[in-house]
Amino acid sequence: MSWDLKVAEIQKPYLTDKDIWQSVHRFYYHGKTTTTYKYGFLKALLESVPSANEQFEISFDHLFYSFTKIYWNLVIHNNLCQSNSQKAPSSVQKVLEAFAATHAIPREWSFDQLPASQQLQLIAAVKKVGKKYVIGATYSDFNGEIYSFDLKKEYLQLHPTYYRFFQTHKRMLTNITNYQLALFLEKFNEAEKVSKLLTRVEVVTQRKSLLQFSQLLQKAGIEHCFYCHKKISKSSHVDHFIPWSYIQSDHLWNFVLSCSTCNTRKNNKLAAENFLQQLITRNNQWIKEERYLLQFENYTEKKLTEFYQYSQLNGFIHDWKPSQLRE
Ligand SMILES: [Zn+2]
Repeated sequence: MSWDLKVAEIQKPYLTDKDIWQSVHRFYYHGKTTTTYKYGFLKALLESVPSANEQFEISFDHLFYSFTKIYWNLVIHNNLCQSNSQKAPSSVQKVLEAFAATHAIPREWSFDQLPASQQLQLIAAVKKVGKKYVIGATYSDFNGEIYSFDLKKEYLQLHPTYYRFFQTHKRMLTNITNYQLALFLEKFNEAEKVSKLLTRVEVVTQRKSLLQFSQLLQKAGIEHCFYCHKKISKSSHVDHFIPWSYIQSDHLWNFVLSCSTCNTRKNNKLAAENFLQQLITRNNQWIKEERYLLQFENYTEKKLTEFYQYSQLNGFIHDWKPSQLRE
């Protein structure tokens, strides 16, 4: 199967879990790997699952937003070489290095700190490389079974069974991907660059600040903690209703404002089902508002409910409630 296809269909319409596990193992553990692309791309794909529409289609803009963020933070912020030779950096690495140099961007900046216009420019440049080297290659790595794609129309469509598989095993797959990525990076980077590498890879795409979401929520006139209803002060926290460590991405439909006590106590847990119903009611109102149009792209009540159920399946402690509930 050729890696430089422009458009490709799914080769096998019916897949069993056994088929998928075999392909996933082959992807992780076999074949010659000269760059981190395959791990970086699978990580971006897992992160982009919440952005899929009801036909399981994911646009390249969503995918390469994640992919660019991952690579900027690995290459520039963490200063890590992404190929098996320091002398021959990967194409994505070259694009990012050139961009950082041209715009004199401090290397300590994470992707979130770049102005939106620069983020868009970078995503466009990285997308170009990804379309050439990553989309077809990953399709081939999975025997043409994982997704169909069209480079011109800039989207891929996940096989429905893979979509379910990713949700069912997302936490474990994310961990294995991080592990393989870190293993590769450890092998081809100097010892002083790889201290605490696995921890750094695990949070490589976690935002340093959720301020923009906090501002959106405050602008909506929210004054009370979503969980305990206590009036919130300036020190309110933005809480990922479905824990970040499951969803691995940031969406307004998954954010609520909470007091610091609830946020700290809830931590990596799932709130009780009545809170899910409250969030669905809020989102049903917000989805009708023009100002949230972009934020609610491809959001459905069904999607949020499924993510809630799948995160329970992934072992997140559920049924959390605040100890003091004000009516
Ligand atoms: Zn609270």
